[in-house]
Amino acid sequence: MTLIDDKKNGKPAIDTNNLKLAQSDSYNALLHGNSQWVELKLKEDSEYFKKLAKGQSPQVLWIGCSDSRVPANEVTGTKPGEVFVHRNIANVVVHSDMNMLSVLDYAVNVLKVKHIIVAGHYGCGGVAAALSNKQFGLIDNWLRHIKDVYRLHSHELDRITDETQKQNRLVELNVSEQVYNLCKTSIVQNAWMERHDLEVHGWVIDLGTGLIKDLKVSSSSPHNLGYVYEFNNVAALAH
Ligand SMILES: [Zn+2]
Repeated sequence: MTLIDDKKNGKPAIDTNNLKLAQSDSYNALLHGNSQWVELKLKEDSEYFKKLAKGQSPQVLWIGCSDSRVPANEVTGTKPGEVFVHRNIANVVVHSDMNMLSVLDYAVNVLKVKHIIVAGHYGCGGVAAALSNKQFGLIDNWLRHIKDVYRLHSHELDRITDETQKQNRLVELNVSEQVYNLCKTSIVQNAWMERHDLEVHGWVIDLGTGLIKDLKVSSSSPHNLGYVYEFNNVAALAH
């Protein structure tokens, strides 16, 4: 048994052997879970993985929070192959984020998804942190994008005195702003010039009930974006 004696700092001694065992248990549980999942899938359909390996044609791009409680497939009852996923802290769409833009471009122009969903969730730690004055480190720079959403809507948010209600409303407003940010991208606008089957939506997941709330901010055209955000057709400019 190895004990770290931290009594000088007033903390209890830590049994490092037990700690390592617990850590390797949670690690091994993943591999065990995988073999059980494979076994179950093959029982249902012996060709399951042969079919899955052939390729993907998802109809949906999901832009959600990294929070471990909101996995896209699980909360929508969908299967592997049905949802293309991008997740980051507090489901933010930043127009200079090459990771997000690459996922968006591939989903829209190669996979030809029909729906892009920004999915936030009540009880979002990123949104709560953005509403505070505390420093959390590097992440403060990312949370700045949500602080900007607060600034845009401070007239409404400052009237809410209950802190949880204020956070929940900022979760909703953040999703709406990120839907707007998606519509402003040249990727989405160029797709709309070519096809009429692409819609952008905003959802919030209620962790307390598991249910999804559709914020009814769906968009399928650039016409409400405002003058400077709506692009001309590049092809038309060439003539
Ligand atoms: Zn979150």
